[in-house]
Amino acid sequence: MLTVNAYAAPSASEALVPTTIERRDVGAHDVLIEIKYAGICHSDIHTVRGDWGPQSYPLAPGHEIAGIVTEIGSDVTRHKVGDRVGVGCMVNSCRECENCRKGEEQYCLKGMTGTYGAVDRDGTITQGGYSTHVVVTEDFVVRIPEGIALDAAAPLLCAGITTYSPLRHWGAGPGKKVGVVGLGGLGHMAVKLAHAMGAEVTVLSQSLKKMEDGLRLGADQYFATSEPATFEKLARTFDLIINTVSAPIDISSYLQLLALDGALVNVGAPAEPLPVNAFALIGGRRSFAGSAIGGIRETQEMLEFCAEHGLGAEIEVIPAEKINDAYERVLASDVRYRFVIDASTLG
Ligand code: NAP
Ligand code: ZN
Ligand code: ZN
Repeated sequence: MLTVNAYAAPSASEALVPTTIERRDVGAHDVLIEIKYAGICHSDIHTVRGDWGPQSYPLAPGHEIAGIVTEIGSDVTRHKVGDRVGVGCMVNSCRECENCRKGEEQYCLKGMTGTYGAVDRDGTITQGGYSTHVVVTEDFVVRIPEGIALDAAAPLLCAGITTYSPLRHWGAGPGKKVGVVGLGGLGHMAVKLAHAMGAEVTVLSQSLKKMEDGLRLGADQYFATSEPATFEKLARTFDLIINTVSAPIDISSYLQLLALDGALVNVGAPAEPLPVNAFALIGGRRSFAGSAIGGIRETQEMLEFCAEHGLGAEIEVIPAEKINDAYERVLASDVRYRFVIDASTLG
């Protein structure tokens, strides 16, 4: 066992504190990764604060991990020492069910193993990327292409794949109008990716404060949702809307912005239900859908796509001691556009 430095929440109501956690010995199919950067996803905050249900504490979150392989198990073939690699939201799945066999491990019928707060195969609770090292089975480790800096790559492991996957699934591309609700960590990646795929992109943000950024990131249009005229102007416009908002919003009014056969895909995951007016769906053969991260193969594909198009996340790199301040800023929608922890500051 390896004892490594980490930042963890002692309970749902306390700030994260420096601590140590245990990593298992490197097994035959495992790789040991020296973590260089870990992104702060809003899901980390939902989880440690208990929004999605009770957790086991202390809990070190973090599922946007970028680092370097420093040791490999005897049977590892996919990675070697010195490789630049990433780990996202999953560290294992059953690998046998219908969905795993399709490469959609995030929908594993037996439940994928989350990078933190999940029961691992050995019965221990997984601990995430706010730490200096992690041991992961090789199949759940992806390669980070040379063209992407490790700090800007970290958020791609969740924010990137969570927006790439539905954009691909619902066919974002030339001639398609895509709306992105919320310009935070996921939202800003949705804008960059949809633009790179050739779609016409519109940001729907609470205000126009970040408009200049949104247009620079690749949006063609930018509207404030606090302005009622926005909903009149954009009625029946979009083929696809990606909702990245972490809080409940009035889904029915956003459904009205979809053209015939359009889909509103929720990736935002507030704990509260999202009520829908049936007529908002019926009146345009519209769909209201959801999507969870993406499979391992698709995550690798997304990283290659980002390298090819020169894409990474817009980040603010912070030392570990600023994690709790960063949480407050994320909760206040004051993030441009992802906080990334420099793992060398974890103590
Ligand atoms: P984030 O950086 O905090 O971005 C969320 C954005 O939503 C904010 O920047 C803000 O954008 C907008 N927003 C926040 N509160 C709002 C409110 N009350 N009303 C309207 N708009 C509001 O969060 P994130 O890391 O991108 O994550 C977003 C959500 O996706 C979270 O719920 C997270 O758990 C979830 N998530 C889901 C998956 C999945 O697999 N489905 C994966 C990762 C994350 P503006 O300031 O532009 O309005
Ligand atoms: Zn995440
Ligand atoms: Zn499975």
